[in-house]
Amino acid sequence: MGLRAFLSRRVVTPQGIRLGAVLVDGERIQALVAPSEVPADAAREDFGDAALLPGLVDSHVHINEPGRAEWEGFNTATRAAAAGGYTMLVDMPLNCVPATTNVTALEAKRRAAQGLCRVDWAAWGGLVQGNHDEIESLANAGVLGFKCFLVHPGIEEFTMVGESDLRAALTHVARTGLPLLVHAELPGPVDAATERLRGADWTRYATYLQSRPDEAEVAAIRFMLSLCSEYGFRLHIVHLATGTALDTLRAARAEGVAVTVETCPHYLHLDAETIPDEATQFKCAPPIRGRANCEQLWQGLKGGVIDLVVTDHSPCPPVMKRLGEGDFRSAWGGIASLSVALPVMWTEAQKRGFSLAEIACWMAERPAQLAGCEGRKGRIAAGYDADFVVFDPEAEFTLMPDELHQRHAVSPYLGEKLRGRVKRTYLRGRAVFCEGEFPGDAIGREFVSN
Ligand SMILES: [Zn+2]
Repeated sequence: MGLRAFLSRRVVTPQGIRLGAVLVDGERIQALVAPSEVPADAAREDFGDAALLPGLVDSHVHINEPGRAEWEGFNTATRAAAAGGYTMLVDMPLNCVPATTNVTALEAKRRAAQGLCRVDWAAWGGLVQGNHDEIESLANAGVLGFKCFLVHPGIEEFTMVGESDLRAALTHVARTGLPLLVHAELPGPVDAATERLRGADWTRYATYLQSRPDEAEVAAIRFMLSLCSEYGFRLHIVHLATGTALDTLRAARAEGVAVTVETCPHYLHLDAETIPDEATQFKCAPPIRGRANCEQLWQGLKGGVIDLVVTDHSPCPPVMKRLGEGDFRSAWGGIASLSVALPVMWTEAQKRGFSLAEIACWMAERPAQLAGCEGRKGRIAAGYDADFVVFDPEAEFTLMPDELHQRHAVSPYLGEKLRGRVKRTYLRGRAVFCEGEFPGDAIGREFVSN
């Protein structure tokens, strides 16, 4: 392939949204120029009014392969990703069998991914009870960081960690320079709340919400912040769901504590007041809280206390969602949204006066920074991978099951009218999604830092 030029009246760059042409040579962006400067011999592709965003980066995805491909898998997860404008995923270390808690398991994951991926990917390693001696070898083998749970993750093979496990591991984590991603809910407040709900009706969403109080998140965050100050590792709070932790996080950042924070589209778009009883497709942990809390999270994003937005794409077979019986207690917690996260976010963000530049920052640039791939992914800039999304921000559509592309068409967003449509996705210069189709081979590969 020779030199190509991708033109748009709305190229979303770190410097702003502008009329421009992105020159692509092979897999990389060569330059961003004015349309008049496109060399005569370049093949031109003009997207007109459709916006050209950097390929989105999702640092929080549960792909579940090897071992639980009947839940999702590399093939279906990366198809959903390509359809949603994502070009890079980082896989969570639980749900797969074996869990990614040592180098042998990481190698098994690499074999499982071979030839199946429509977008690029990489792995987080797991920090579980007793594997502190694996941390540095996992880092050397190529994981981008680590994930741990302070509360039971719902998967027997992946153990939650307490203070002594963390103290055994954190020196190793700090030495790697890689981030530790923490599911921040403490079991104490969850267990106490659940105990108080003895005899309650678990088909009611309110019961589930009460069983996972804000306090569980706030206490876990305080605990991790103190360990972060003590051990000097990079702390990242995954899927913040409570606005009541924002003051604590803001104060910690002001003191220079190395903490970053993410939230998810479902916490920014859905609210407890409108979730019907028995609607277990809305179950996730921590839970979707009330409308006022949702607005607090938007304020956190606006004020920069929340750095980034990722999906926490976590599907399972429909039977595990207990959709028929509507039991929030036994249903699997997880919401899959790779294929719709961008329209969901844009639907909310444009109403609040945000631009596509902020979307690109929250959903591409900052997740890339967290994962350590910010030199190649997450921006439209010279030298970066030619990863793009062609996005029509004015289009409206009603979400139908065949547009999800994940393994099981379960979603709390089905039937919703959303704004903004992914038309095409390019991975390293090649179209991997085009108007509902997935052209070409599965060219996605593991991201290796260099
Ligand atoms: Zn998750």
